[in-house]
Amino acid sequence: MRDTITILGVPIDRVTRNEAGTITEKLIKESNKSCKMIFAPNVEFIMYAQKDEEYFKILKQSSLSTPDSIGVIIGAKLQKKSFKERIPGQSYFRKIIELSNEKGYSIYMLGGKPEIAQIAKENLKKLFPNVNIVGTHHGYFSENEEKEVIEEINRLQPNVLFVALGAPKQEKWIYEHRNELKVDVATGQGGTYDYEAGRIKRAPIFIQKIGMEWFWRLCREPSRIKRQLVLPVYLFKVFFAKDKTKGKFD
Ligand code: UDP
Repeated sequence: MRDTITILGVPIDRVTRNEAGTITEKLIKESNKSCKMIFAPNVEFIMYAQKDEEYFKILKQSSLSTPDSIGVIIGAKLQKKSFKERIPGQSYFRKIIELSNEKGYSIYMLGGKPEIAQIAKENLKKLFPNVNIVGTHHGYFSENEEKEVIEEINRLQPNVLFVALGAPKQEKWIYEHRNELKVDVATGQGGTYDYEAGRIKRAPIFIQKIGMEWFWRLCREPSRIKRQLVLPVYLFKVFFAKDKTKGKFD
């Protein structure tokens, strides 16, 4: 039985980083290449799901959804509930990398600008010599290339497929192709490879701890302001919603 908190219709699991790793391992063992979906919802996901019914339904079908952002933590508090901890996308990604390093799970990294996933892979190899990353491909492919990418993934049949195309594209892509992908789990991971390739720096730990990482990112990438403007609208919506667990399409 999953222990979830639902915010505006989007269920998110009450799990620690370690528990998220254990659940992922369980899914890998049970999946038999049936492409279980793992998402990392943040406020942008939840708000986008209020205007896109297809996305709303996709987010409800995950096998695991980790609480990615401070907005999600506040959304739970407004319901007098609490997540065990926040699990930023990169932290979950690293957990799976650590498990691969220890236990050999195979990983395919799809997405990001050309070379980025490859550079991220090389950096990770230095830190985790036994990590089993079996393939990488950038995330700017045509329809024809897409067929080849899926063929390559299916030839390699990795345990975990990371898809970093940004939200909502990555979740929609996983959902659309889930029946043809021969992977145990597929998970959307946004800009994670950009961090791992050293292209973007994460906030210092104390800024992460006080929940201000969004502000750090905003200072470094001011163009994100448009995306972050959904935060006050979200807080307003959750605060005043009669049933904070119900979304627009429930
Ligand atoms: N991206 C991609 N293909 C696309 C659009 C985006 O590979 O068609 C990549 C982009 O290079 C970046 C990531 O997807 O690495 C999106 O990162 P973003 O910062 O939006 O994600 P977040 O971490 O905010 O979820």
